[in-house]
Amino acid sequence: MRATLMYGAGDVRVENVPDSVIKQPTDALVRVTSSCICGSDLHPYHSMSRDSGPARMGHEFIGIVEGTGSEVSTVRKGDLVVAPFAISCGTCVFCREGLYTSCLHGGFWDNEPLEGGQAEAVRVPFADGTLVKLNVAEDSALMPSLLTLSDVFGTGYHAAVQGGVNERTSVSVIGDGAVGLLAVLSAKRLGAEQIILMGRHQARTDLGREFGATDVVAERGEEGITKVRELTGGHGTHVVLEAVGHMPAYEQAFGIVRPGGTISRVGVPQYEDAPIGFGSLFGGNITLTGGPAPVRAYIEELMPDILNGTIEPGKVFDTTTDLDGVPEGYQAMDERKSLKVLIRP
Ligand SMILES: [Zn+2]
Ligand SMILES: [Zn+2]
Repeated sequence: MRATLMYGAGDVRVENVPDSVIKQPTDALVRVTSSCICGSDLHPYHSMSRDSGPARMGHEFIGIVEGTGSEVSTVRKGDLVVAPFAISCGTCVFCREGLYTSCLHGGFWDNEPLEGGQAEAVRVPFADGTLVKLNVAEDSALMPSLLTLSDVFGTGYHAAVQGGVNERTSVSVIGDGAVGLLAVLSAKRLGAEQIILMGRHQARTDLGREFGATDVVAERGEEGITKVRELTGGHGTHVVLEAVGHMPAYEQAFGIVRPGGTISRVGVPQYEDAPIGFGSLFGGNITLTGGPAPVRAYIEELMPDILNGTIEPGKVFDTTTDLDGVPEGYQAMDERKSLKVLIRP
């Protein structure tokens, strides 16, 4: 079968690899029908060393179950399923609390070196705890939106939930990538009236407005902070959803958060050390939260609004390709020519 491998920074190839097969009684084998490239795939695309490659890529996919191990009971051959970006057993203490990304038995797809979603097929461990059945046809026009449940929509929603967004909170969103835009949609869904989107790519911020942003601030750094403060009576917003992961975005976040407010991060931090002292978090009684989104916890909650057409998170996909076009897709996303690339293997 064919699959995407990253050999090092900037070097993505699609090659033949051994077929994925069922190995454990709790596995399912899924033939991938839709997959995509994630903004977080761009981090290794920038920095991966050749010694650690090649790595199988992809952690967001929808597909058809081709077979199941003897202990799998919730999905069966022929089912269309969506896979979250983390594998979870569904039964351990953290899964029962809804914190699927801290599952004691699962993990991220990176820990499955022979599997990846940007491929023709995937062996899915803990199929009962990980996969969610989709009751739609394989060729449904809803597929791009349903695919966002595997990561970007659930991640944007997690940011908003962790940040405590509700109808009484004003919200800033830092980042106009897919997660940032879907954080806007999520903040709107949770009732926020003022939603300030910080981003400077106009096609994206236009989509952000469609998703519910009331204001767009294109400026960055001190200028951006000043703009947000102007829009909020000088105080900043109750909640800041940070969907980038680089240090300037974090600095922007504590620059625009209102005293007593919350910064919720879902952009994977590309730093370990960051200010938390009087001038950043402590002085304003700021809460810092966020982390990898346990998207499995949100799929059933978010799916009905996609199925009934209330929301269309799949609008974040602006490019579709087959497996051959995946290396180009990485390049297009890296150069910000494409917002998010949908793959139909
Ligand atoms: Zn992702
Ligand atoms: Zn678990």
